[in-house]
Amino acid sequence: MPLVSMRQLLDEAAKGGYGVGAFNVNNMEQIQAIMEAAQQTKSPVIIQASRGARQYAQDRYLYHLMLAAAELYPEIPIAMHQDHGNSFETCKSAIELGFTSVMMDGSLKADGKTPTEFEENVEVTRRVVEYAHERGVTVEGEIGVLGGIEDGHGAGGSGLEHVTDPDQAVEFAERTGVDALAIAIGTSHGAYKFSKKPDGSVLKMDLLIEIHNRLPKTHLVMHGSSSVPKELQDIVNQYGGHLKETWGVPVEEIQLGIKNGVRKINVDTDNRLAITGAIRKVLWESPEKFDPRDYNKPAREAMQKVVATRMVQFGQAGHAGDYSAVSIAEQAKGYANGTLSTAPLVSAK
Ligand SMILES: [Zn+2]
Repeated sequence: MPLVSMRQLLDEAAKGGYGVGAFNVNNMEQIQAIMEAAQQTKSPVIIQASRGARQYAQDRYLYHLMLAAAELYPEIPIAMHQDHGNSFETCKSAIELGFTSVMMDGSLKADGKTPTEFEENVEVTRRVVEYAHERGVTVEGEIGVLGGIEDGHGAGGSGLEHVTDPDQAVEFAERTGVDALAIAIGTSHGAYKFSKKPDGSVLKMDLLIEIHNRLPKTHLVMHGSSSVPKELQDIVNQYGGHLKETWGVPVEEIQLGIKNGVRKINVDTDNRLAITGAIRKVLWESPEKFDPRDYNKPAREAMQKVVATRMVQFGQAGHAGDYSAVSIAEQAKGYANGTLSTAPLVSAK
């Protein structure tokens, strides 16, 4: 199957009432881990690369690894997504490179740190939507600002400082025509999301439900949604690591989100922890080893296990064969002739 648009994956997920994990990659082993997990669980999948990943790996490598995945796993629908584009130019370059979906994170200025004004966010996101939709490419926007910093991107601080205002979310969706909307409900990027198991005072699921009720046709996105399981933290610490105690977003809260319009769930930290724990274990137990395959292989297997588990928990497992790929060119026609709606149906206040 050729790479598909993220819009198609999310529209199908909405029909089926499930969520789709979006997993970050920086190298070949991570792409292999995701694809093996997708095949094992028969899941459609979103593979995403941040600006940091594109710099680290050189984005042409990433693109061709992704094409290899599409060739090797023809039965799996794959969307290739730019995570946290910081400007029109970043999104344009991703589209030129062959990404089938981009996130324009206009909640922050191009420095990736300073929160923007609402109008500035609308303007840059609208511009990306016009450019992307002409080419059949999906756009995710963000309203409200997440906490924490990852890959040098983020406003820092707690996730509660700039939670999404529902009125602004509705206006933003209407004026930009985004296909998917990331909202801030108290989550943060990175491993240190919450200092105790999160409850309603720090993780605003009621806000998510309110936004979904106001924008029932808009695909919602949860960022910073690793669960940071204790068993993965423990493996890292058992073999010489020094992670402070921390809590992520419990899977049952994500599942509640999926019942309320969340179609894309970003997961990165859990995979980083799984990889690091597996590598530490090999090097700790067998200090004589020096072949990278000796630790990359168990690392890849550990990540595959986490990804497969999430695919089952998010409900995407078993859905890879539900549909065949619609080309990006067809998607572009859909946007042009209006069959692919971008004006979300807004319900009364
Ligand atoms: Zn994010």
